[in-house]
Amino acid sequence: MPQMIDVRSDTVTQPTPAMLEAMLQAQVGDDVFGEDQTVNELQSKAADLFAKEAALFCPTGTMSNQIGIRVHTQPGDEVICDELAHIYLYEGGGIAANSGASVRLLKGDNGRFTAEQVRENINRRDDSHLPWTRVVAIENTVNRGGGCCWDLREIEHIRVVCREHAIAMHLDGARLFNALVARNETPRDYGHLFESISICLSKGLGAPAGSLLLGSRALIDKAHRHRKLLGGGMRQAGYLAAAGLYALEHNVKRLRDDHRKAKVLEGQLRSLPYVSTVLPVETNIVIFTLDERLATDSFLQQLQHQQVRALSMGRQTIRFVFHLDVSDAQLEALLAALRGIRLAA
Ligand SMILES: *Cc1c(COP(=O)(O)O)cnc(C)c1O
Repeated sequence: MPQMIDVRSDTVTQPTPAMLEAMLQAQVGDDVFGEDQTVNELQSKAADLFAKEAALFCPTGTMSNQIGIRVHTQPGDEVICDELAHIYLYEGGGIAANSGASVRLLKGDNGRFTAEQVRENINRRDDSHLPWTRVVAIENTVNRGGGCCWDLREIEHIRVVCREHAIAMHLDGARLFNALVARNETPRDYGHLFESISICLSKGLGAPAGSLLLGSRALIDKAHRHRKLLGGGMRQAGYLAAAGLYALEHNVKRLRDDHRKAKVLEGQLRSLPYVSTVLPVETNIVIFTLDERLATDSFLQQLQHQQVRALSMGRQTIRFVFHLDVSDAQLEALLAALRGIRLAA
């Protein structure tokens, strides 16, 4: 069994020999000239999957989100998102820095707000005092929400409200494939609801890097310009795109297995005396809080002694994320390590 059980994030995966082989075989060219056939293949494959006209390969999910916001806004416009949103919390204030836009934060149910909340928070464009609401951003699955999934019907209701007010919708789908697998949905179910969609290849899908922004031809042409401004134009990026193609082909269905393991862990956590609350587990993320008698540092240190690496997400709050490098044997070892935790270390 490999030494460390690393459940800090689903970004820690190592490319498998088969993925590396696909990368080695990639036909590449200068993508800034549009001449990398593997990048082009990945972009058109992803666009087709979601029934979108076009896609843009970006180095990170942060960049594809930031470009997604930028193409919908002008400085002084407003973005509506949940207070737990990655685009707000974990992208370095990029909405302000890159788009000059302000943010209206909604307090949702673990990151999921309602169409009614959106309606109540739209600023009308006939009042020049107000920042104009231009885009509503949704995150699915919600990272800070314990990997929970949105109800597609609520997104459809939000779509109706946004259409009424000519507001665009952006999807931060860093882990959208986890939601699709968990809810038996398809990429096309989402494609027609959002003007822009960002998906990550380097989370549960197991590629070493890469993200895609999907949208209309016109939106992606604009996005191309903004990717340049952010310094995100890469040259022989086909080696990375090949990993992304491999991931889309081979690593989607298997996400189910990560979800199963997370569910097993949830069951055990609910029976441990030092665990206070566990967010309902639906996909590969498990977020829980520790009893006040057990300090976060002590908990993480004791786990580390048992070869387990996990992450603190704020006060008394711990996150475990399952991914393709955690085996069943490692899950068993993790459960045993948790049973061995002592209150006073
Ligand atoms: C990881 C993640 C991103 C993108 O992160 P990068 O590290 O920039 O690729 C965006 N949104 C969510 C919800 C994420 O978890």
